[in-house]
Amino acid sequence: MRVRLSKQEEQDSRGRLAFLKKLHLRTGFGGEELEKMLNEQCCTEFLCGRRACPRCAKLSSQRMAIEIEGLVDEGELGPSLTFVTLVHERGTLSPEDIVHSNIKKFASQEGRKICGALRRGAAVIGAVDDGFIKDVDGSEYFQRHSHCIVSGKLSRGQLKNLKQQYPKTESIQRPVHTNRITPNSILPLCKYMLKIEHYGKSKFIARPKSSGRNPYKSSATMRLPQYAEEALIRNHAQFRVTDSLILVGLRRKRSADPTACNSTILKR
Ligand SMILES: [Zn+2]
Repeated sequence: MRVRLSKQEEQDSRGRLAFLKKLHLRTGFGGEELEKMLNEQCCTEFLCGRRACPRCAKLSSQRMAIEIEGLVDEGELGPSLTFVTLVHERGTLSPEDIVHSNIKKFASQEGRKICGALRRGAAVIGAVDDGFIKDVDGSEYFQRHSHCIVSGKLSRGQLKNLKQQYPKTESIQRPVHTNRITPNSILPLCKYMLKIEHYGKSKFIARPKSSGRNPYKSSATMRLPQYAEEALIRNHAQFRVTDSLILVGLRRKRSADPTACNSTILKR
């Protein structure tokens, strides 16, 4: 199976690749990690498969969605699905540390934790994501976390186990977040899980309007500062898109597809 990008998407991902290339040539942005990725000459005939590559990340997310939809159609997953976001302190990384961090190792540790919490028969497809946080004290760090599509509805016991594995802390106020989803939202969620442009959150102390209530921590979306974006790209250029995948109760199928480096083909 070949997945193609729409004209608009191809333009977007090409534009982003060209932008990265220009920035790298002019300023050395992304270091040798990005240079190596750019030298791989990613094209339709040879996909580089890198997590930092806009084209490959997008193709992978589309392929992943088609495969998950296929499993739902065959009755292997669903019919109801749950989208789960999990955050743990172990994913808190300084911008220096994230450059040489191991996404693949993090993804497999997450898989084991999730598998332990959900127990037998669970089917989970997810990916590791990186968010950037500017805290109220001005400190800046990354929060690596995971997003998963889980087959079925979570039982009370499963939710309790997850909350035990992902405890609330001072800086992580909502470690487990669940949402019921429909098969229609599989594609946008896959694109979200494997996105190229990452989000930042700027935390601030909000003063409640009604008197008598305490100030509370809130946050606003922010653009990543360039140094943080560079750190992330340097890291993501070292890994394949598929290194960031979390699979529980599912595995990747070997494929003769010439673009298999980019494959997410799933099997129950
Ligand atoms: Zn590529």
